Amino acid sequence: MRVSPTRLVYGPLVVLVALSFAQVVFGQQAPLRSIKYNLSMSRPTAHLFEVSIEVQLTDEWKNKDIQFQMPKWSPGRYAVFDFAKNVQEFQAAGGVCPTGAKCKLAARKVTRVDDQTWSVPTESSNGLTISYKVFGNDLSGTFSQLDERHANFNGGSIFMYVVDHKADPVQLTIEAPAGWRTINGRSTSLDQSTWQFENWDIMIDTPTEIAPDWTKDDFNVDGKKYHVVIHSFGSDGGKRASLVKDIEKIVRAETALWGPPEFDEYTFLIHFAGDDHSGDGMEHLTSTQIIETGLLSDPGMYDETLGTVAHEFFHVWNVKRLRPFELGPWDFTKPANTRGLWIAEGFTNYYGHLMLRRAGLLDDLKFLRRESGTIAGIENAPGSHLMSAEESSLSAPFIDDAPHAQNTNLENTAISYYPKGELIGMVLDLIIRGRTKGKVSLDDVMRKMYEELYLKSPNNSYYLRGRGYHTEDLQRVASEVSGLDLTEFFDRHIRSVEMLPYAEAFGYVGLQLVKSQAKEPFNAGMSVQFDDPRTPVIENVQNNSVAENAGLQKGDAIVDLGGKPATNGWRSTLAGYKTGQSVPMTVKRDRRTIKVNLVLGEPERYEYKIIEKSGASAEAKALRGMWLSGK
Ligand SMILES: [Zn+2]
Ligand SMILES: [Zn+2]
Repeated sequence: MRVSPTRLVYGPLVVLVALSFAQVVFGQQAPLRSIKYNLSMSRPTAHLFEVSIEVQLTDEWKNKDIQFQMPKWSPGRYAVFDFAKNVQEFQAAGGVCPTGAKCKLAARKVTRVDDQTWSVPTESSNGLTISYKVFGNDLSGTFSQLDERHANFNGGSIFMYVVDHKADPVQLTIEAPAGWRTINGRSTSLDQSTWQFENWDIMIDTPTEIAPDWTKDDFNVDGKKYHVVIHSFGSDGGKRASLVKDIEKIVRAETALWGPPEFDEYTFLIHFAGDDHSGDGMEHLTSTQIIETGLLSDPGMYDETLGTVAHEFFHVWNVKRLRPFELGPWDFTKPANTRGLWIAEGFTNYYGHLMLRRAGLLDDLKFLRRESGTIAGIENAPGSHLMSAEESSLSAPFIDDAPHAQNTNLENTAISYYPKGELIGMVLDLIIRGRTKGKVSLDDVMRKMYEELYLKSPNNSYYLRGRGYHTEDLQRVASEVSGLDLTEFFDRHIRSVEMLPYAEAFGYVGLQLVKSQAKEPFNAGMSVQFDDPRTPVIENVQNNSVAENAGLQKGDAIVDLGGKPATNGWRSTLAGYKTGQSVPMTVKRDRRTIKVNLVLGEPERYEYKIIEKSGASAEAKALRGMWLSGK
């Protein structure tokens, strides 16, 4: 999955309980005779997906109950969303009507068991037909949308599974509105309406687009077919053809790193929403769902799309196949807990950027500038001193776009495993390259992980080959491949919050990290948002800060600062004062007007720049060339 690059901080400080590494036991039973899903959409403007599930039973199921369950969350996004909240009109009947026939099936009494589960008695029937509607009006890799323009679904948000039968083969038939065409990462023809899936998990791993006006462009790399499906809600500015060509360059760069991918065909499903709020990227086994907020014709959107493509396609290997142990098959009754998301998402962030460089779509300067920005985000975040990469991963259900009705202190206590993992990946890569004098890299480590823990590892479940890794596996494999003892690195920088050894890492490739005071120093310990330019509001007050000392609170509306009305230039107003000076300030809190004095502290925000190290050796420059080019 992808998050907004600006979203560097988020997540709680929690007391973490060590997880058992024991595999989750799934209560699978002998398969039912058949499970068939039917999806229709007779009233798109109502945003209601109509789902029916026909279950054929063996005799042993007579006079028992069958349970149907809506997942609480969906793979790739770790926050719990409780998709059952959008289910309505659940009904059940005994028996299954043969295709094309008209039947009157007897209604069955439905019992709602809990927030996500419905139970239906089979009585004497050898089959059950259930139906329900699901409301979906979010264009997103996690949710689903049905409206007058299209249907775009993530199966986890609309399809219930039969409890204890997630491993059974399933069939899906889609009845599209007249003139709408259906496509997904497992389509074998353009007029296809029925799909067979090995199991429910694979079905929900197949996001699908249904609309009258998407476009499809194709290319081949090393004998594999790639499809770029674009549904755009506005002009592409004539850039579609070159976008497809550049996506091919990314595919070539990433397959050059990993070797041949384990599929024959792969589909990029891309939306240009043009609504300025829908934006997402979600990885799947043979496809990705990418939603950009703008239009391809918008400034910057072209490069942003390539960035998302580079990230999501890297997930073909890192996370969809080489994955943390806990990621698949899943228990959808509670959130997934894994320590490895700084590898799964963070390393994918790092390599997503590096692959753009290796594909020739980003020059050295822009690549280093991007990483400098990530360093600034992490090193300026107060949560960096409190939350380790592993804790951040375990906190994913709270920080991965989770909605919070309760006020939290996440801005001050948490970091995201995306940028943190990105920096761990880069620094670890450079340390391995430097200490082995260019003989070994993180590329070698990742390839070895993929081989050992995916390709050559026996199936641990019905879901997918391989057993998944624990973070200890990365430490072991990295040490084995490089011959280095990395215990200290993992203990200090991954399981603890110690700052990464940037100087050593960049030194190997003739670069250095320069830290300088931000031009407009943040020395008040607060951030301010200007959603309404007339009423700036305090967005966050850092713990133990000047703002907290002055008694300011999140949500306070600033009336004036230093005797002037508060505007976007509030920081330059503060810059006119010196450390230790007192700045008068008036805020409104609910119906109260409060006057405070901010006694300014030391600058708390810094800029970071990765620059050429003077006198860098030819050896270091050569190592840098190998790193950036992958050769
Ligand atoms: Zn991702
Ligand atoms: Zn669409």
